[in-house]
Amino acid sequence: VLNYFETKCRGSKEITDRAKQRIPGGVQHNLAFNYPFPLAIDRAEGAYLTDRDGNTYIDFLQAGGPTILGSNYAPVNEQVAAVIRESGPVTGLFHEYELKLAEIINQYMPHVEMYRSLGSGTEAVMAAVRAARAVTGHKMVIKVGGAYHGWSDTMVYGLRVPGSFRMNAKGIPFGATARTREAFPHSVGELRRKLIENRLRGGTAAVIVEPLGPESGTRPVPRDFNAKVRALCDEFGAMLVFDEVVTGFRVGLGGAAGYFGVTPDLTVFGKAVSGGYPMAGGVGGRAEIMNAFGSGLDGKSGAHIQVGGTLSANPLSCAAGYFAIQEMARTNAPVIAGRAGDRLTRGLRRLIDKYGLPYVAYNQGSIVHLECSGVMLLDMRSPLKLLKENKARKRLMEQMGAAYTAHGIITLAGSRMYTSMADTDAVIDAALDRFDQVFAQ
Ligand code: PMP
Repeated sequence: VLNYFETKCRGSKEITDRAKQRIPGGVQHNLAFNYPFPLAIDRAEGAYLTDRDGNTYIDFLQAGGPTILGSNYAPVNEQVAAVIRESGPVTGLFHEYELKLAEIINQYMPHVEMYRSLGSGTEAVMAAVRAARAVTGHKMVIKVGGAYHGWSDTMVYGLRVPGSFRMNAKGIPFGATARTREAFPHSVGELRRKLIENRLRGGTAAVIVEPLGPESGTRPVPRDFNAKVRALCDEFGAMLVFDEVVTGFRVGLGGAAGYFGVTPDLTVFGKAVSGGYPMAGGVGGRAEIMNAFGSGLDGKSGAHIQVGGTLSANPLSCAAGYFAIQEMARTNAPVIAGRAGDRLTRGLRRLIDKYGLPYVAYNQGSIVHLECSGVMLLDMRSPLKLLKENKARKRLMEQMGAAYTAHGIITLAGSRMYTSMADTDAVIDAALDRFDQVFAQ
């Protein structure tokens, strides 16, 4: 594996070494773990990436999730280019695509009655939490241990539950997380206890979940988990916030809410909501809640929650999201990508059996997990054991990720894969051949 990187990826090494002088750590993104060094990507198209040295890879990173239609999708690019030719990428004023995006989201997710475009999933979570506090008057927020909701001070993940990857919490004052609590995943009893305890701490404003379970289902939750959380939120007067940054449009045009048949009060979007273009994020939900974001603008009284930014709701991002969602509906992309994920998972299971490996492969449509550590991350109750196992797991994932890369497959952190509409049966079968070679070794 190291030989591959040394001999075939010299161009990547040269430029990413140079980058260390001017970019902290030499690279912004760590999704592929960058071991032994990061690849520099020059081209992206459909299911493939090509690096600086001309090596081509099957791309199961798909930018971390936004490109459900496949990378660099021409029909959306062309429509976006026409908008840019007309208005440029930003005006700082209302643009019809801001509305068109809100309307098309509402068309497929009727519970998102109103939508506010923001700049990222991180910002959208911050806005949702702020709205939940403003509208309920409660103080506390509960998240699920190991879940990722962006990098804001109050939401850094692995906050208190050991065994999740701890994002480095340096620079975050202790008080910033004082009103955020974590419940163990898939323990509804534990969540109830936290809700009861929070009554003495000013009440619970919001329970925020990744509907598939923390880290897009790396710690899967039972099928009825979200419905039970919904019931608890109603009982305790807390808002249920679905973080659909990954699941929105990916598990279906109706998102996880449609998939599970559970209606959240607020939904957080990112990634696919700009179809792979920048400034991907926004929050939506019931009008009576969402109006709190606007009451300062139309001169009416009420709690005006200030969110937004110079580039928020710009025509480029909104048009890209609108065209991408339209295109996903026309082509049935979420279903096609989901079938590719099913095919990939079935094939991986066959290979795991073939070699008798202690691996686990499972998927939720186009979100595929391949755990090579032999550790299922379900049990959060043995923190020390998990902490130790997690270190070993991370090292193994790093090595597996590099091995997959050397065989022409890019994954997310050596353990997660996103399929797209570009993943035809032929692409998946070629990928399975490559996995076969890695597993054989
Ligand atoms: N929530 C979830 C579930 C995510 O996966 C992510 C990004 N990986 C975020 C929030 C943060 O979104 P962004 O990177 O756009 O800030």
